[in-house]
Amino acid sequence: MTEKPLRLFFALPCPTALATSICDWRDSQDLGGRPVAPANLHLTLAFLGSQPVAKLDGLRQLGSHLRTDAFMLRLDQVQTIGHGFACLIPSQVPPPLSQLVEQLHAGLSAHGFALDSRPFLPHVTLSREVQKRPNTHPPAFKWQVEGFGLFASESTENGVHYQALQDWPLTAPSG
Ligand code: ATP
Ligand code: MG
Repeated sequence: MTEKPLRLFFALPCPTALATSICDWRDSQDLGGRPVAPANLHLTLAFLGSQPVAKLDGLRQLGSHLRTDAFMLRLDQVQTIGHGFACLIPSQVPPPLSQLVEQLHAGLSAHGFALDSRPFLPHVTLSREVQKRPNTHPPAFKWQVEGFGLFASESTENGVHYQALQDWPLTAPSG
């Protein structure tokens, strides 16, 4: 029997304590829409969509070949993107984040995965289907990014669930 395809994406999973702080702040704002659960806060690096299970080995190898230093991400702006996604955005993209995404996208393209043609826009979605433009400034959340992962997104009756399939550490910056 063929296994069901998986809806896959690479992402930075938001550490639990930071996700709690971000969601506490989000809940104190009048953003509206459908709030994202703290356990689901993440920053997508590459979205692969529906893929056969047979692709997993190659993706795991690809992930293990990426080399980027750990970095600090400052989420200091709120913006609505797409169809009413209220997001936290970094006003400055740290070079290691750009390097990680470049390496990942190059590797995925070399393996024949079709990626979104839009430029990479790092964002952490806070709430979906937001009707009005948020008029607020976040308290510059600092995220020490130490690793990234490959996730399978599953739709459940309690909402979407992201299953971590594998995670990889970033390297300690030298000097
Ligand atoms: P749901 O769609 O069930 O409401 P979700 O959007 O969190 O929940 P997915 O659609 O599986 O779940 O998406 C997983 C991640 O990939 C999310 O960060 C989503 O924003 C991102 N993503 C989804 N589709 C695309 C796409 N076409 N291009 C880039 N990123 C995408
Ligand atoms: Mg979606």
